[in-house]
Amino acid sequence: MKITLLGTGTPIPSLNRSSSSYMVEAGSDVILFDHGPGAFQRLMQTGKKAQDVTHVFLSHLHFDHCGDLPRLVHHQWDAVGGLKPRFKIYGPPGTQEMMDRLFGPQGAYQRDLTARTTHPVSIRIYQSRGGGKQRPWPETQVTEIANGTTVSGNGWTMAAMEVIHHQPYLDSLGFRIESEGKVFAYTSDVKLSGKQGPVRSLYALAKDADILVHYLNGFDFDNTEPGVLSKQQVVATLARDANVKTLVTTHHGPAIDRDGVRERVIADLAEIYKGRLIWGQDLMSFEL
Ligand SMILES: [Zn+2]
Repeated sequence: MKITLLGTGTPIPSLNRSSSSYMVEAGSDVILFDHGPGAFQRLMQTGKKAQDVTHVFLSHLHFDHCGDLPRLVHHQWDAVGGLKPRFKIYGPPGTQEMMDRLFGPQGAYQRDLTARTTHPVSIRIYQSRGGGKQRPWPETQVTEIANGTTVSGNGWTMAAMEVIHHQPYLDSLGFRIESEGKVFAYTSDVKLSGKQGPVRSLYALAKDADILVHYLNGFDFDNTEPGVLSKQQVVATLARDANVKTLVTTHHGPAIDRDGVRERVIADLAEIYKGRLIWGQDLMSFEL
């Protein structure tokens, strides 16, 4: 299994950090977890094409986790024109509606798609790629998932688990994928409560993970309230107690990813968590 960080940023636009996206290569499958703005550019930087992707899992429908999905769908459709099976999309409730409102017959891209499936020049381009007389409209293969859903592919199994984020407005999932005895876990965006400590459901997600990619955007220093952890201590406590081998922090905005702050946060993490600790950056990759 190979993991590549395609986007380690936030909703705040950044030239250094695309919004959330992680690529897992397992067996012959190319699996994306989230695909936020900028992530498609990163995918191309890895040498992959839209048509290489086999599965997309969305953790939740905040735009910084799905903003480049329409681009991915469109590029794949345009490149193969319906001649090959499309990647499958899995996401929480609302995913089907979102895709229908983009790519459906009355969707946002209706004029573009009508032109591309009707104009003689577009048809000729499609036929030059091996297509027939009629150019099909893009279909999106959406399956809505929830806590406890498992999906298997070529030598891997993924389990989706609910995480606490912006409910009840958005259902939110974290993911754990196992392949050839190795485990990759991705929390997605999660509440970090210093009073409560790590959310219990995250222990099942992270347990004995070879790599845990964990959300860490907020931080706090100099907390003197007894028994209350800082946000970074919540993350480190989970990684320690779940026996995570490598902790990769992600979803870093400009406030935390700043000289002087970054180093203090890493020092706080390292005080509790003694495994391998990585401050995530776009295009880092890990072989398991
Ligand atoms: Zn979010």
